[in-house]
Amino acid sequence: MIFDLIRSVLNDMYYNIRAYVSTMTIMDAADILLVTVLVYFGIRLLRKSNAFGVLKGFLVLILLLWVSELLRLNVLTFLLNSALQVGLLAVIIIFQPELRKMLGQMGAGALSSLVGRTEAYDTEKEISQAVEACRAMSWSRQGALIVFERRVILTDVVKTGTMINAAVTTELLKNIFFPKAPLHDGAIIIKGGKIICAGCMLPLSSDNKLSRDLGMRHRAAIGMSENSDAVVVVVSEETGSISVVTNGMLKRHLTPEALEKLLRIELAPAIEKEAPEGFAGFFHRLKRRGKAE
Ligand code: ATP
Ligand code: MG
Repeated sequence: MIFDLIRSVLNDMYYNIRAYVSTMTIMDAADILLVTVLVYFGIRLLRKSNAFGVLKGFLVLILLLWVSELLRLNVLTFLLNSALQVGLLAVIIIFQPELRKMLGQMGAGALSSLVGRTEAYDTEKEISQAVEACRAMSWSRQGALIVFERRVILTDVVKTGTMINAAVTTELLKNIFFPKAPLHDGAIIIKGGKIICAGCMLPLSSDNKLSRDLGMRHRAAIGMSENSDAVVVVVSEETGSISVVTNGMLKRHLTPEALEKLLRIELAPAIEKEAPEGFAGFFHRLKRRGKAE
């Protein structure tokens, strides 16, 4: 009996798919392609957060709902339907930070990166000045927290600090993080070749599995990276050790040379310039971004 049921379901599916395909228009194909791209980016973002477990739970619920509808189990169908509706609302509330990050990347971020970046400033100079400052601060055990904004705009974090809007120079960086200076506490945000602000409060990481020897500065760096696509550099006041956080991953005990190499990979738009124009460029960048993650 169960085999008959499976056979009839598969038969139905086959005829439905055939009917859809035979009446499909170019707009339907575009529709499917668009949904596929959205689902792909959605899953990629969710995979990096603990929301992926919830997503799997949702898929199981949907599967159960589908089976219970097929078997005409009305009460179970009703219950599962209600659970899905309530669950959807709960997910929006619980995963508000993740959704915000996703929307942030989908908005100004993702699109502008796929269309191509338009920086006119000298990234190489910005990197070398920052690396020299980190080298000096590491040597003198001066704590520092430097956020390089990328596609996700960090308006909320910028609001917590003091505006500076000055060129990135080794001297200014060392000056800001000088222990007795008024703005040495907190982070600075670098954007478009400029130090936008200093003394910013970053969101702390909610990961309770982080090593116990990581204090607030490092947790704030990881938190910032979990909530955006920013590149965050930390110089430890206690050990002088230099670390970089990208995509929520902390790389510790870097030499200034390793830091420079990493920053070049993450920030320098030189590789972007190699990308061809138009459609070919779009797919080139898409492929490169896929590899980077
Ligand atoms: P270090 O190795 O430099 O000691 P740490 O990871 O052990 O770093 P703490 O010793 O707790 O961290 O560093 C405290 C400093 O970190 C504070 O003085 C402040 O400048 C900075 N800090 C702490 N929390 C935040 C935050 N949420 N946003 C930005 N900066 C922060
Ligand atoms: Mg400490």
